Amino acid sequence: MLEVVCPWHAPIWSSLTSQTQHAHAYLFSGLPGVGKRRFANAFAAFLLCDTPEHAMACGHCRACLLREAGSHPDLLLLEPEEEGKAIRVDAVRQLVDFIGQTAQQGGRKVIVLHPAEAMNQNAANALLKSLEEPTRDTFLLLVSDQPSRLLATIRSRCRVQTLAAPSQADALDWLATAVPELQAEQHQALLIMSGGAPLRALELHQLDAIAMRQQVVADIKALIKQERSPSQVSDAWSKYPLELLLDWFCSWTLDLLKLHTGAQPVASNQDMDKVLGYVVRFPTAGQLMDWQGWLLAHRAMVQGKANLNRGLFVEALLIEWKKLLEKR
Ligand SMILES: [Zn+2]
Repeated sequence: MLEVVCPWHAPIWSSLTSQTQHAHAYLFSGLPGVGKRRFANAFAAFLLCDTPEHAMACGHCRACLLREAGSHPDLLLLEPEEEGKAIRVDAVRQLVDFIGQTAQQGGRKVIVLHPAEAMNQNAANALLKSLEEPTRDTFLLLVSDQPSRLLATIRSRCRVQTLAAPSQADALDWLATAVPELQAEQHQALLIMSGGAPLRALELHQLDAIAMRQQVVADIKALIKQERSPSQVSDAWSKYPLELLLDWFCSWTLDLLKLHTGAQPVASNQDMDKVLGYVVRFPTAGQLMDWQGWLLAHRAMVQGKANLNRGLFVEALLIEWKKLLEKR
């Protein structure tokens, strides 16, 4: 498959591929689902292609055919073995060996590391060493939506390229083509949920996130009315992605903080308008700040791949949420 860069990244692509000299290491950063990995893969293909055409990998030279077959010896893709897990020490050895080898096709060597923040300490140190002593014709492409979690020494040795999200209109056009079976308002709902990142919106559609969200909002209402207990709701949510749930709670909490100061909440939580308008009457600003701190700390734990007991964690989340409603 020819790697296709998202249309909204075309200007950055042109400027990057028209350079006669490339950096040894790039860090492609941006929102989750904005098209960073596509961009990095396409750039890897471009760097390895023997005969690029119109600033793209040609798709039919020997290098392109090997890469498309997944057997290009000078391309190393480093990812966690399992999504959400760390990039571990065996991957580091692979990385070090690969950097030490001569290019088997006699040209460039390319490493794509995704997501870069998943490297454990050993992996990061090994990578740092290779960044400090760059090898000619070896290119490192790091992909990250949380570049702040990388060692500062790694970041500073990479050329950082931020890949932005498209305008809302462009994103909706793209989604309309990608999922024509949905209505315009569903495209809109998915895009809002994705924070404006179209590939993430598509992924949310595949997760059936619109239905999930409706269920979550209904359960939150039932929880407030004491119709369901935190442990019942936690069981009902056992299949829902934790990061998504935490994102929603964080977003509601920001709205609660805004409502508390009399400001307008953001437009992304219209389905929670009534609930938030009710909840905001109970906690003090200090309690809301404490709750936000609790959420952010736990979100960092989830993002940091900490070992959490999922069921107990969601139950604790709901108990904390309910505490906002307790009388002062
Ligand atoms: Zn080619």
